[in-house]
Amino acid sequence: MNIIIFGPPGAGKGTQAKHLVKKLNSFQVSTGDMLREEIKKDTEIGKKIINNMNDGKFVEDEIVNKLLEKIIFNPKKMSKLIFDGYPRTINQAKNLDALLRKSNQKIDCIIFLNVNKNSIVKRIEKRKLLEKRSDDNSDTILKRYDTYMEVTKPVLDYYSKKQNFHEVDGSAEIKHISQKIEEILKV
Ligand code: AMP
Repeated sequence: MNIIIFGPPGAGKGTQAKHLVKKLNSFQVSTGDMLREEIKKDTEIGKKIINNMNDGKFVEDEIVNKLLEKIIFNPKKMSKLIFDGYPRTINQAKNLDALLRKSNQKIDCIIFLNVNKNSIVKRIEKRKLLEKRSDDNSDTILKRYDTYMEVTKPVLDYYSKKQNFHEVDGSAEIKHISQKIEEILKV
């Protein structure tokens, strides 16, 4: 199965994606992790994106789409992908559709973790202490949320019309969210 975990920053996409990876023996596709890795390794891409990431802005579609391409065409990972943080723009959603079509794959399920802004700010403040992510500070959190509402919300409208779209209350306990997702996926 290929699954998209969709939702605002701090909705718990990474946590649920990791759970599914274990449960389904599949692979997490976290563009955020991939981009942070580029910064850590101080690659050419890393140097280009560091300012945007620390400012809570999106990285250019072209860079993210390219990183994704390698994974989609990896035969070991085909139809075992859990997307976390991608797609975030309409351009990325269309790119994903095209790449999946080209590789004879499809999206089997879209899970939308719905969480309100107040809970998100509280959660990210907590995550900041645990994970020490450089893009987790109060200013950046609010900017990331605004960017989500402005740029990513249309992607939600795009997916919400599909038959395999499911909304889950992302403010519930982690365990309960996982259970709910398993019920939807029938796993
Ligand atoms: P995340 O770990 O998914 O919360 O992503 C952290 C940051 O990485 C975002 O605030 C963006 O700056 C960047 N990023 C991650 N995924 C994408 C994407 N699909 N498109 C553009 N920027 C992204």
